[in-house]
Amino acid sequence: MRLSRYFMPVLKETPAEAQIASHRYMLRAGMIKQSAAGIYNWLPLGLKVLRKIEQIVHEEQAKAGHIPILMSTVQSADLWRESGRYDAFGEEMLRISDRHGRDMLYGPTNEEAVTDIFRAHVNSYKDLPLTLYQIQWKFRDEIRPRFGVMRGREFLMKDGYNFDLTKEDALHAYNRHLVTYLRSYERMGLKAIPMRADGGAIGGDYTHEFLVLAQTGESEVFYDSQVTDLTFGDRKIDFDSVEECEAVLQEFTSRYARTDETHDEALFNEIPEERRATARGIEVGQIFYFGTKYSESMGATVVDADQKQVPVHMGSHGIGVSRLLGAIIESSHDDKGIIWPEGVTPFHVGIVNLKQGDDAADAACEDLYKAFVKAGLDPLYDDRKERAGGKFATMDLIGLPWRITVGPRGLKNGVVELTSRKTGESEELSPEAAIAKVVEIYAAH
Ligand code: ATP
Ligand code: MG
Repeated sequence: MRLSRYFMPVLKETPAEAQIASHRYMLRAGMIKQSAAGIYNWLPLGLKVLRKIEQIVHEEQAKAGHIPILMSTVQSADLWRESGRYDAFGEEMLRISDRHGRDMLYGPTNEEAVTDIFRAHVNSYKDLPLTLYQIQWKFRDEIRPRFGVMRGREFLMKDGYNFDLTKEDALHAYNRHLVTYLRSYERMGLKAIPMRADGGAIGGDYTHEFLVLAQTGESEVFYDSQVTDLTFGDRKIDFDSVEECEAVLQEFTSRYARTDETHDEALFNEIPEERRATARGIEVGQIFYFGTKYSESMGATVVDADQKQVPVHMGSHGIGVSRLLGAIIESSHDDKGIIWPEGVTPFHVGIVNLKQGDDAADAACEDLYKAFVKAGLDPLYDDRKERAGGKFATMDLIGLPWRITVGPRGLKNGVVELTSRKTGESEELSPEAAIAKVVEIYAAH
C-alpha cells in the first residue's frame, strides 16, 4: 500500500478521553473511531490487525478439528427463556422488540443458539465428538465501557462449544481448547497465563481464564513466578491423544495462578516466598466445562450405544478477539507508539523515502516495494511529500516491526537502512540484502 493513497487518519493530538496507551494509540493511529460509548468503527489499519488475529484463531482451531459456523447476532428471546437465562442475564443484555412486538435480543453469548442448532440436527452418539465455533460480534451493555476496545459494549469474540457423550470426552475437549489457546496467544506475541477462575453460578472447577500481565489490567492476579517461564512453542500435538492434551494442561496449570476471585491466601503462602508474585492482568480468554446445564434444560440429547437418550456434555470457550488488540498494545509499546509483534502487524515493513521526487530514491523505493509484494509480503510505502521527521513519527506511531529508510546519500553508497522498531537498532545493507532479511524473518511466522 502507498500511504498517499491509503486511508489512515492519524491524529496529532492525544485524545483527551483515552486513559491508557492502547486506547490512545489506536485512536491516534487511525485504527478505530468511536461511534457511541463502547462501540467502534474499524478503520483500515485496525481492521487489518483484527483480521490477522481472527486468522490465527481460525488456523489454530482448525488444527484441533473444530468447525467454524456463523450464528446470527440477533436472537429470539424464547430460546433464552428455555434455558432460564432471559431473566437471569439482567441489564447487560440488549433487548429489542421487532415490529410484531416479539422479544428479541442482541446476543451477548451463544450457548442457547448453538444448543438449538445441535438439537435440531444431531441425534446419535456416533456424531460426537463435535465442536462448533464462530467469530462473531457480541453486545453486552457494560455499565462502564472504557479503555477503548478493551471493555467495549459491542465486541468481537471467538466462541466455541463442544458437544460430547461423556464428561471424560468433554474434558478432553476442554484440554484441546487450552492447547489451541496457548498456541494462538503465542503467535500473537503474547504470554497469556491460564489461571484458575471462578465457575460462577454454574459452579465446578473446570474453568480457566487466560491473562496477559499488564499494569492496566482490570484483574488482580496471584501466581508462582515459574508460570511465566513456560512457553508452548512450536510443538506438534496429536489432538486425538487424550494423554498429550492432558499433559499440556498439567504442565501449564499445576503451579499456583489465580485471579482475585479464586485467590487462596493459604495456598499462595505455600509457594517459596521469592516466587510469590502479584500483578494485574487482562483477561483475553476463558474455557469452561459446564456439563449438562444447557443440554438438559433445552433437550439436547443423543442416543447412546445402549439406545438410551442422554443429555450431552458441553463446554464453552471464548477468546476476546477485539480486546486482544488492546492487550497486545498494552504489552508492546513505548512512548512513541505501538510495537507490533510480527504475527499480527498490519503491514510487514514500512518503506520511508527521505526525498520524495529524487529520481534515485523514488526508483529504489519502487523496486523495494515491488520486491516485497512479489515475495508475498505487505509493505507500506510512505511516498508522501513530507519531511523525514514526520514520516518517522508516523512509522513509530503505527509500529510496524521493520522499517527501511531510503535516501539519496545512502544510495550513492549502494545502501539503505533497516531499522527494528523494537530495539531501535539500524543497519546499512544493500537493498537486496535488506529484502532478503525481512523475507527471512517473516518466513518464520
Ligand atoms: P469480563 O470479566 O472481562 O467482563 P467475561 O468473563 O464476562 O469478561 P467471557 O464471557 O468469558 O467474558 O467472554 C470471553 C472473552 O471475551 C473474555 O475473556 C474477554 O477477553 C472478552 N470480553 C468479554 N467482555 C468483553 C467486553 N466488554 N469487551 C471486550 N472484550 C470482552
Ligand atoms: Mg470470562
